[in-house]
Amino acid sequence: GMAAQKLVVLGGGESGVGAALLGQAKGFDVFVSDKGPLLDNYRAVLRDAGIPFEEGHHTEARILQADEVVKSPGIPEKVPLVQQLKAKGIPVISEIELAARYTRAKLIGITGSNGKTTTTLLIYHLLKTAGLNVGLAGNIGDSFARQVIDDTFDYYVLELSSFQLDDMYQTRLHTAILLNITPDHLDRYEYNFQHYVNSKFRILQNMQPQDNFIYFRENPAIADELAKRSPDVNRLPVSLEQAVNPGGYLQNGRLIAGYGEQAFNLDMAELPLKGPHNAINMLSAILAAQSVGVNSEAIAEGLGTFKNAAHRLEPTGTVNGVQFINDSKATNVDSVFYALASMEVPTIWIAGGLDKGNDYSQLDRLVRQKVKALICLGKDNRKLTEYFTGIVPLVYETQDMKDAVAKGLAWAQPGDVVLLSPACASFDLFRNYEDRGNQFKEAVQRLVDSR
Ligand code: ADP
Repeated sequence: GMAAQKLVVLGGGESGVGAALLGQAKGFDVFVSDKGPLLDNYRAVLRDAGIPFEEGHHTEARILQADEVVKSPGIPEKVPLVQQLKAKGIPVISEIELAARYTRAKLIGITGSNGKTTTTLLIYHLLKTAGLNVGLAGNIGDSFARQVIDDTFDYYVLELSSFQLDDMYQTRLHTAILLNITPDHLDRYEYNFQHYVNSKFRILQNMQPQDNFIYFRENPAIADELAKRSPDVNRLPVSLEQAVNPGGYLQNGRLIAGYGEQAFNLDMAELPLKGPHNAINMLSAILAAQSVGVNSEAIAEGLGTFKNAAHRLEPTGTVNGVQFINDSKATNVDSVFYALASMEVPTIWIAGGLDKGNDYSQLDRLVRQKVKALICLGKDNRKLTEYFTGIVPLVYETQDMKDAVAKGLAWAQPGDVVLLSPACASFDLFRNYEDRGNQFKEAVQRLVDSR
């Protein structure tokens, strides 16, 4: 018979291994190539499946023989190997694109600079609460590709980064959510914000007029781009400022979405997620759940029982009446903006790490209102201290998490909050944002235990 199509998978992480297994199941001749070492468990999975692979280098001659290439989102577009593939006209796709070919399920995709994980987990939880047969994939948990091998779900909720969107071409979403677009990852977009905006808007490609597009209408980049494009889809805006119908909005602290009898209407004060950013996330999730027929009762129940992932405005303990909050996942300025907007008492703010070209001016007003002291923790402290001296009455610098937490407690009065919300990457002093958040939590726990 005909020779099998050659599928090369670049990157042997969760998505790459999933793509390799799916490719094999669908009859491709698969080869996996990773420039670094594979994790032991992924190496074992590939061996057990009998899928050939290499690690520590890319054998270009073999890779350039591919009929199609799945590229892991961590590999930048600009690396020479990817450029060579493109020059030869070999299609380079994401694992999401490959997997989407092999499912009949309806796809709900979520993107944005911030809030993806929270909103994805929330939609998944709402659909599960309603009893729907739903899977969770994308940037989160088990790869989409691995899950579609036995395609058992009716819906998938997919967290989509801009890097995944860049290598998506045919995938059609039943419901797409665009939460916000603010500067991040610009190193991968030629430092051109418009390129990053274009990448996010790829979520709309292939959507049909009856498909649902949920977006936060007060994000300037989204509003500007929509004015240029006016896509022909069922638009469902989210607003914090005005009633929108159709759409979802916040009015007098209530979350409202939909019309008349069917309208969803609930007091946000009763719900575990707090702050204006979470109003956006919840309204988006409500509209997404409605788009697949979930009723108001199930939505209300799901919103009430939702528990967010760690490191996102996570309460981590109280010492002498001082509350500590871990927001280690806040690795850019916009997420800190919403963290500060969510604070209701005087705040001691722990920030810093590796600066990403941050512009702090967006925070001036909130910092003046809410922050009584700033503790700078990380390699690029100088930029923070120079910017905020004169704006914040007390500024301290350290390179040690325990010291930062101790100083936070020393400066706090009962009733204050000590907030870790770094606005920076974590790789200077920590392995990743989880490690940073865990070290914060351990330091707080030691203080709790010593009382
Ligand atoms: P992502 O997966 O996009 O990184 P997360 O849900 O993990 O998003 O949240 C990342 C950070 O952004 C956290 O600090 C969180 O509190 C904050 N955040 C969550 N939702 C939003 C939003 N809609 N707008 C701005 N910041 C947000």
